[in-house]
Amino acid sequence: MKVLVIGSGGREHALCWAIAKSPLCDELYCAPGNAGIDHVAITVPIAANDLDGIMGFVNINGVDFVVVGPEGPLVEGLVDRLEAAGVPAFGPNARAAEYEGSKGLTKDLCAKYLIPTAEYARFDEPDAAKEYIRVHGAPIVVKADGLAAGKGVILCRNVNEAYAAIDHIMAESAFGEAGAEVVIEEMMAGEEASFFALVDGKTALPLVAAQDHKAAFDGDEGPNTGGMGAYSPAPVVTDEMAERVMDEIINPTIRGAAEEGRPYKGVLYAGLMITEDGPKLIEYNVRFGDPECQPMMMRLKSDVLELLLACAEGRLDEHKIEWRDEAALCVVMATEGYPGAYEVGSEIRGLEKADKLKDVMIFHAGTDEGDGNFVAVGGRVLNVTAMGKTVKVAQKRAYEAVGLIDWPEGFCRGDIGWRAVGD
Ligand code: AMP
Repeated sequence: MKVLVIGSGGREHALCWAIAKSPLCDELYCAPGNAGIDHVAITVPIAANDLDGIMGFVNINGVDFVVVGPEGPLVEGLVDRLEAAGVPAFGPNARAAEYEGSKGLTKDLCAKYLIPTAEYARFDEPDAAKEYIRVHGAPIVVKADGLAAGKGVILCRNVNEAYAAIDHIMAESAFGEAGAEVVIEEMMAGEEASFFALVDGKTALPLVAAQDHKAAFDGDEGPNTGGMGAYSPAPVVTDEMAERVMDEIINPTIRGAAEEGRPYKGVLYAGLMITEDGPKLIEYNVRFGDPECQPMMMRLKSDVLELLLACAEGRLDEHKIEWRDEAALCVVMATEGYPGAYEVGSEIRGLEKADKLKDVMIFHAGTDEGDGNFVAVGGRVLNVTAMGKTVKVAQKRAYEAVGLIDWPEGFCRGDIGWRAVGD
C-alpha cells in the first residue's frame, strides 16, 4: 500500500523508519519530511498544516493510508477530511483532538467519568479566578485553556504569583485566544511519566511508558523545551502501575470520550503524575511524544503499520503488541541558543560514523542536505537513539554516538536517563 506520513520531526523519522520495514508498505511518502527522512521515504514539499495541499497529493497519488504526526493538522480536521474522502488515517478527528486543544474539556471529562486528576476549576473571568485562588491558597497551578506551545502552564508558589499568572494570561493575553479561559489546579507532588496507548474508538492497547526531559540543561535546569531526550521503559511505571493506568485512566477515558460523542482513535498520550495515592492525569496529548516516540519505535517488535491501520479501522482487538526486551534512550542535539533564538546553516559532520554503531539510530529533525553535507536548519536537530540491555547501557551507547558527531554549533544534555540510571 501507499502510505503518507505527515510531519518533519524526529518523531516522524522514527515512524517512517519503522513503517518502511513493514511488508505491507510498498511506497512511503512524507510531507514535508527532512533530510534524514529523505533516506527512508519520498519526501514531498507540502507543509504539515497545508490541508488542501495534502488532500490534493493524496487524491492525485492514490495514497491508501495517512499517518498524522503533529497535533496541528489533527486539531484543524485533517483526519475528518481524509475520512470524508474515503482514505483511512491514523489520528483522532477534530472533535476528539480537542482533548489536547482544551485542558478544561479534558478536566470535565475526568470529573464526569471519575478519572483521577488534580482538583480544578475553570474560569473565563479574572476576578472569579482570583477569588478561587484566595480561598484555596498556594501552591497552585494556573493554565491557559488552549494550545500555548507548551508555555501556558504556570506553577505558582504563592498567591501573589497566582494573581500575576491570571493577569499575564487573561488581562495581558500572553497566549492570545488560548488564554480566554483558564484552568486552576491543585499542585500535585510525585514523579512524572508519559504513558501511551493505541486506541481504535473502543479498544485501547497499552504501548510502553517513557520519560522525557523538558528542561534545556543538565540537572533539569534552564528553560523548558520541546524535549531534550527520553528513554523507555520508565522504571516508575511498573507493570502493576501500567495496569492501574489502563484501568483507572485510559479505559474510562475511551468509554467517556465515546459517550461524549468524541470517540477517540489514534495514540493517546497521557502525561501522568505518579503520586502517593496512585497515578493521576496531568493532561492528554493526541499524538506521539517527540522524542518519546524515537526510543519506543526502536523497542517495537510488532509491525507498526499493521497496528496503526488496525487503529484506523477499529480492529485493534485482533492485535497484540510485542516489544524487544532491551531499553532504548534518545539524546536530542539542538542548535546552540535553542529554545531561544539560534542561527541556521551550520554544517554537521560525522553522522555516517555515528549511524554505523551497533544498535544506534540517528533520527533527524531540523536538518537539510546539500552536496552530500548535512546542515542544521532548526532548533532540535538530531535524535541520537540507542538500544541496550539496560537504560544505562543504552545511555552509554547513545553518548558514544554523540561523541562521533562533529557539530561545534550544537549542544545536548549530558544526563539523559539520570532518573533510571542512578549514580
Ligand atoms: P501540561 O502542559 O499540562 O503537561 O503541564 C506542563 C508541566 O507542568 C507538567 O509536565 C508538570 O510538570 C507541570 N504541571 C502541570 N499541572 C500540574 C499539577 N496540577 N501539579 C503539578 N505539576 C503540574
